[in-house]
Amino acid sequence: MTDDTPTETGTVCPLCGVGCRLRPGADESRARGVTAPPNPNGRLCGSGVGAFDVADERLTEPVVQDEGDRRVVSCEAAYDRVVERFEAVVDAHGPDALAFLGAPHCTNEENYLLQKLARTLGTNNVDNRARHCHSSTTRALSERLGYPATTNALGDLLEADVILVAGANPAERQPVAFNSFVRPAVNDGATLVHVDPVGNRTTRLADVHLAPRPDTDALVFDLLSAAVFERGGVDEAFVDRRTRGFEEFTAALESFDRERAAAVAGVDSEQIRHVGEAVASADRVAALVGTGVEGTDGRASAPEALLNLLLLTGNVGRRGTGLYVLRGLVNEQGATDAGCVPDRLPGHRPVTDDDARARIAAEWGIEPPSTPGRSASELLSSFGDSIHGALVVGENPAISKRDRKWIRQRLDALDVLVVLDLAPSATTRHADVVLPAAAGVEKAGTATNLERRVQRLRPGATTPGAARSDAAILASLGQRFFEEADEDHFEYAGIDEVFDELTRVAPAYEGLSFTEIGDEGQQWPSDDGVLYRETFATTDGLAAFGTTQPIEHSARRGGLELVTGGRSSEFYGNPRPDDCPLRIHPEDASERSIETGDAVVVSTGTAAVETSATLDSGTRRGTVYLHASVADPLLRDDTAAVTVRLTVPPVTMGG
Ligand code: SF4
Repeated sequence: MTDDTPTETGTVCPLCGVGCRLRPGADESRARGVTAPPNPNGRLCGSGVGAFDVADERLTEPVVQDEGDRRVVSCEAAYDRVVERFEAVVDAHGPDALAFLGAPHCTNEENYLLQKLARTLGTNNVDNRARHCHSSTTRALSERLGYPATTNALGDLLEADVILVAGANPAERQPVAFNSFVRPAVNDGATLVHVDPVGNRTTRLADVHLAPRPDTDALVFDLLSAAVFERGGVDEAFVDRRTRGFEEFTAALESFDRERAAAVAGVDSEQIRHVGEAVASADRVAALVGTGVEGTDGRASAPEALLNLLLLTGNVGRRGTGLYVLRGLVNEQGATDAGCVPDRLPGHRPVTDDDARARIAAEWGIEPPSTPGRSASELLSSFGDSIHGALVVGENPAISKRDRKWIRQRLDALDVLVVLDLAPSATTRHADVVLPAAAGVEKAGTATNLERRVQRLRPGATTPGAARSDAAILASLGQRFFEEADEDHFEYAGIDEVFDELTRVAPAYEGLSFTEIGDEGQQWPSDDGVLYRETFATTDGLAAFGTTQPIEHSARRGGLELVTGGRSSEFYGNPRPDDCPLRIHPEDASERSIETGDAVVVSTGTAAVETSATLDSGTRRGTVYLHASVADPLLRDDTAAVTVRLTVPPVTMGG
C-alpha cells in the first residue's frame, strides 16, 4: 500500500478531539488554520499552531534486538522477524496468547487494520486506552440511547438556551470548540452552568458555578431532576412517546432525600433551584461532559443521572440539545468505531453477535472469534503469564499510572514485543522489534472527531528515513502473515480501500465514501448531525430511564480531596506551566500558612510530590487541584485524600 504524497490542502490537527483543520504555514513549523466545521473561523489554539513541531528525536530505521544486541535492519527483515516470532507464540500457546494495543491518536484505518490483524490471527485481544477515559459516559450512552458517541454536532450548541458543562474545562482543553460555539451561544443569551469542584477558565464565562464535592456530580443531576419535576418541567409528550421506565424513575425521585443529597454533595439548595428553573423553562438544553464526571469510587454514575435529566426534559434528538463527550485525543471516537475493542467489532457490534461476525466474514474471508478478548489493563497484567507476544502501536505502556518497575518487568517477560512508534520511548527500549512510524501530520487517512465527524487527513510533511504510516506497516505485516497461504486479506492499493472496507463492515459508517468525504468531513451515521431524531438505536427504539444514584460519599479522613486535570485523554503534549501549581482554597491555605508561590509537599502517606501553591477561591474548600502530570505518583497510590504542607516550615522568630 502506498502513502499519499504531501499536499497543502489541509489535514486534521492531531492534538485533540475537536479536529480542527490546518495546513503548514509559510514557516513550516507553524500551522495555519483552514476553515472547517470544527473551526469555522479557521482559528487554531496555541497547541494547534505547533502541530507540525513533531518530536525532536525520530525513529528512522527498523531495529531488532537479540539478547541485548540492537541492530538496524531492512523493513522486510523486521516484518519477517515479527511474523516468525508471532507464529512461534501461536504454535506454542494459541492465538489468545497475543495482544494488540492500538492508539486513539492513530487513524481510523490504522485502528481498523490493527483489529483486523488481531482477529484474522484468531484473537479478540485488541484494545485502545481511549475506551477507558469516558467509560461510564459511553456505556450509559450506548446502553440507553444506542451509540457510545456524542449526540449532536458542535454547531448545534449555538442554538442551545442552557449549556451544562460538567467535569470538564473546554475553555482550556477544547479551546477552539469553546470559543467557536459555547462562547457565542453565551454571548447570545444562553445560560452556562459549570459543574466542577474546581473553578477554571470555563467557570469565568459561566453564569452559575456549582462546585460539588468530588465524585458527587450524580447527586447534583438527581437534584436538578427533582427540581425540574417539582416545578412541572417534565416534557410529557417526549417522555410518553420516546422513553420507558419513567414511572420507576419518578418513584425513585419521590423518595429521594433532597436535603441529605444537597448536604452530601455540599451544594446550595437555592442554586440547585435556580438551575433547575433554568433547565425546566429552556426550550433547548445541551450538556458537555469530560473525564471529571467519571468518578473514582465506582458507586454513582453521573452520566446516568445526567441522561435522566435530559430525557425528563426532552432534550435529546433535536438541534441545540443532547450530550457531548469532550474527547481529548484526535481519534478517540474513531479508534472505538473501527473496532479496536476486545468485545466489539467495527461499528460497535458485539463479537458474540452471529450476524455481525458473518457480515465481517463475508468481507474478510475469515470469521472473527466469538469470545470477547481482554482489556488493555488485563492484557498488560498477563504479559509473560498467559500473554507471550504483543504488538503495540503508538503507545507507551511503560509510562503509566501503575508501578513502572512492575510494568517494565511485564514487558521484559514477553517472548516478543513489537512496537510501532515515531520516537524512542521507555517502551521501545524493551522491544524486540521497533518499526519507525509516521507522525499524525505526515499521514493519509481519516479521523473521527468528538462530534462523529469523519475527516480526511492529508500529509502536510514528509516522513523521515524508513518511517512509514502505521497503516502501511500493518498492511505489510498482514500480507506477510498470509503470504504462505496465498491469501490476500491485506492487499490494498491505497488507504481509500481500507476506509471503504470499514464502511462495508461497520453499519454506522455505511454510506460514507473516502472520495466523497471532502474537506468539510461527514458525520456518521448521516450528515444531519443529530442522532435519535425519530427513534433511539435500541432494540425497541425507546430510551430507558435509570434510577436515582445512591446518596453516599465516603469522607476522606485527615486530608484534602485531590482533583486532577489534564488526564491523558484531555491533553496532548506537555502541560502549560499555569496548569502545574497546586490550587488550593485561601482558607485551606491559611490553615497551613501557605501563600501563593510557596513550595509545598502534597502527600498520600506513601507517595509525595513537590510543587508550588496558588491560592484560588474558585477551588472548593476541602479540595485541591493538581495537573495529572505532576500528580502522577499520587494517582498510582490509588487514593484521593492528600495532605498538604509547606516544603520548608516557616521560621518562627524569638524565644
Ligand atoms: Fe488542535 Fe484541539 Fe487546538 Fe483545535 S482546539 S487547534 S484540534 S488542539
